[in-house]
Amino acid sequence: MRRYMLPLALSASLVGLAQPLVAAEMPNPLMELAPTAHQLNVIYFVADGVEPVPGYEQRLNELLIYLQQYYGREMARNGFGPRSFGLPMTPEGKVEIVLLRGKRPQKDYAYSGEGAINCLREIDAFFEAHPEKKRSEHTFVIMPTFYNEEYNDESPGGVPFFGFGKNCFALDYAHFDLRYLGEDSLRGRLMTKWFGGFAHELGHGLNLPHNDGTASERATLGTPLMESGNYTFGRSATFLTPASARILDRNQVFAPVGSGIDYYQTQERPELRDLTVRYTGASLDVSLQIPAGYRANAYIQDPPFVVNQDYDNVAFPMQEVGGPEQGMQRVAVQMPLAELTRLKNVGKGEQCISLLLIAPDGSRFRRELPFAWEGLQPGDALPIAPGEMSSGY
Ligand code: ZN
Repeated sequence: MRRYMLPLALSASLVGLAQPLVAAEMPNPLMELAPTAHQLNVIYFVADGVEPVPGYEQRLNELLIYLQQYYGREMARNGFGPRSFGLPMTPEGKVEIVLLRGKRPQKDYAYSGEGAINCLREIDAFFEAHPEKKRSEHTFVIMPTFYNEEYNDESPGGVPFFGFGKNCFALDYAHFDLRYLGEDSLRGRLMTKWFGGFAHELGHGLNLPHNDGTASERATLGTPLMESGNYTFGRSATFLTPASARILDRNQVFAPVGSGIDYYQTQERPELRDLTVRYTGASLDVSLQIPAGYRANAYIQDPPFVVNQDYDNVAFPMQEVGGPEQGMQRVAVQMPLAELTRLKNVGKGEQCISLLLIAPDGSRFRRELPFAWEGLQPGDALPIAPGEMSSGY
């Protein structure tokens, strides 16, 4: 089965939100965003016998534009200009949301990998029949909440809600409306939970892994969206890390008109040369050569080193050192221990450094370097065991 990202334990999200509120208003005027060559597919999917939640087109139009603006502001702040994911628009200037009626009963599209696959199969069949509606490899699926003894508009759920490859799933319910975002009420808290979740899962669907900011970034910018920002979004400052922004910069639906790149075609794992990680006493310094044209992020986390336990991965964009030579480019970064204050195992126990390589066509490859602190002295280089790169996150 393809790997998918589950959200954090959702029950934890309605407590401990007594943080200062930020006004949640549509920016006025809207930031003018660079036109994109490709757009996100937006599908509103209902099971057989289920009707859309009333007003969905208007509510989701606003929410998607708000989110597009949020990503655009964060890209600009990170130095990539006013760029965001493209949305398909109708001639009237609204987001084009395709309403798709599923063939199966609702129970077949429940919160599970299987429910997601059942839905995606029908979306694929729809795209085969209507190729002009497939605007990119990235699809955002919204389903109405279940209405049963467990779920309703005050407690939505039941349907898939996670990133799944280049797709992501979110849900709709009657009060899923921008006007409640930031409100100090049950509806306001539900909005942060479900719209923050929507923003976070969309990040996964746009190729973003979990990551945390450095101590300095968190002190000034708040909570990273791809850490626990789904619980702060719309209520307190929530940001995209530089590492996330440079992945989005190479995303198909962020590509400006005329970029001409055929996205996600790279299959061959990139070669890494001369990889060293040195402990200086105050930092871990990573340096290596990667194929010219690639870029790399370095991350460091505590155990366990598995999917969905990686929210603590503190991210550092690696910088180019010198120019390319013989098709390879040296990149390096210092990870100061003073920036890792949220990690428990710094200086003791085990940790894992991950290198994420991003090809010019947006394909991604990961190499993990688990290591133990025991016996490590300033000046030592970490032993690097031979290892394979994996593709994807
Ligand atoms: Zn996640």
